[in-house]
Amino acid sequence: MPDTATDACFENQPAMLNVEQAIAGLLRNANAVGKTECISLMTAAGRILAQDLKSPIDVPGFDNSAMDGYAINTNDIGRASTEGLQITQRIPAGSTGETLQPGSCARIFTGAPIPEGANAVAIQEICRVENNRIFFAQTLCNAENIRPRGNDITTGSTILHDGTLLQAAHLGLAASVGIAEVDVYRKLTVATFSTGDELVEPGKPLAPGQIYNSNRYQLQALLESQGCKVIDLGTVADTFAATRDTLLQGAGQADLVMTTGGVSVGEEDHVKAALESVGELTMWRVKMKPGKPLVFGRIGKTPFIGLPGNPVSVFVTFLLFARPYLQTLQGRQVTEPQSYEVRAGFDYRAKQRREYVRVRLSNDTGDAITAETFSRQGSDVMSSVAWSDGLVEILEGESVEVGDTVRFLPFSEWAR
Ligand code: AMP
Ligand code: MG
Repeated sequence: MPDTATDACFENQPAMLNVEQAIAGLLRNANAVGKTECISLMTAAGRILAQDLKSPIDVPGFDNSAMDGYAINTNDIGRASTEGLQITQRIPAGSTGETLQPGSCARIFTGAPIPEGANAVAIQEICRVENNRIFFAQTLCNAENIRPRGNDITTGSTILHDGTLLQAAHLGLAASVGIAEVDVYRKLTVATFSTGDELVEPGKPLAPGQIYNSNRYQLQALLESQGCKVIDLGTVADTFAATRDTLLQGAGQADLVMTTGGVSVGEEDHVKAALESVGELTMWRVKMKPGKPLVFGRIGKTPFIGLPGNPVSVFVTFLLFARPYLQTLQGRQVTEPQSYEVRAGFDYRAKQRREYVRVRLSNDTGDAITAETFSRQGSDVMSSVAWSDGLVEILEGESVEVGDTVRFLPFSEWAR
């Protein structure tokens, strides 16, 4: 159903929630699924850590050279510029040296342990080598070019917390203390289906009145971007019985059921009634654009989120509502999407609903970063999302003029 038609039905109804109320309502009812499994660190990217990780070692485990050069004792600096220091040993990374005798030095390479008796590394660029002796004229401080033991991590310190989404840096950190396996939360399984008799799968011909099912593809990708495993139940006919049966089927095999479409007030919208027949409906209208019809509830004990049908509304309501809800079920810390203040390159007037306008950023003038809107902002215009870098949030009733400061929510920050 187009926004203009639903505006008339919904705008003044008392049960309409604002965005914050809707998010709070969703999260109030959310509990972490909590099941865990132990997996290899190698396969842990994108998973959610289910334990605090403590380091069993110091990192680095020994004082080591930050540069290629010569390990010396700063007491010998005077000698280095006159008679020179004899090179008595060679310490590449992976080996250990002998105690350094006064007046001598050790050829040393980045990452190699500093030998006993040395307290600085003269980088090779400042040294002249002649007859197996080094000469340099600069002074060096105690510990110069040395990375001390425990500089990065000390034994027993917590390096990562329960609920962390494991990304490249976290995996590198865990590996650096020797951890090979981690406890993570089991992947959340989400059963999805699309509603709509008009829908046809890409790759097939369209009959008159039909459209391609685009939500199925974007929803699957959105869920996977949040680390979920999708059970795709396909497209369901616009009947009460088919909708109810598929809700039950999804609830029987997933942690959460999510659908698109069929949540408005039209005669062809069956999700709300079907949900009420097999479970409970918690709320269904949010004062925002795009979006608005949004169903939340339970099928037995299994939570349910019914997103709107219009593809742009699916994208925006997923990011605003489904994302924090999924994070909670996954045991993750719920992260507010990052936002930045940018300059509006457009005029806009929001009516009674909060609006999320698709924009692209530019820095053509060289001073402020400016947000430009996509020319068509309809909730069916998926080109607007594909074109954009993110959303500008315009509060209820607010007017924006060119040059105003507005809140920009980058898409890149949400997929974490
Ligand atoms: P509904 O909420 O079911 O009335 O759908 C609202 C609008 O979104 C209608 O124009 C539908 O044709 C469209 N729509 C619903 N589901 C999909 C889908 N899976 N892919 C593309 N468009 C859809
Ligand atoms: Mg429909």
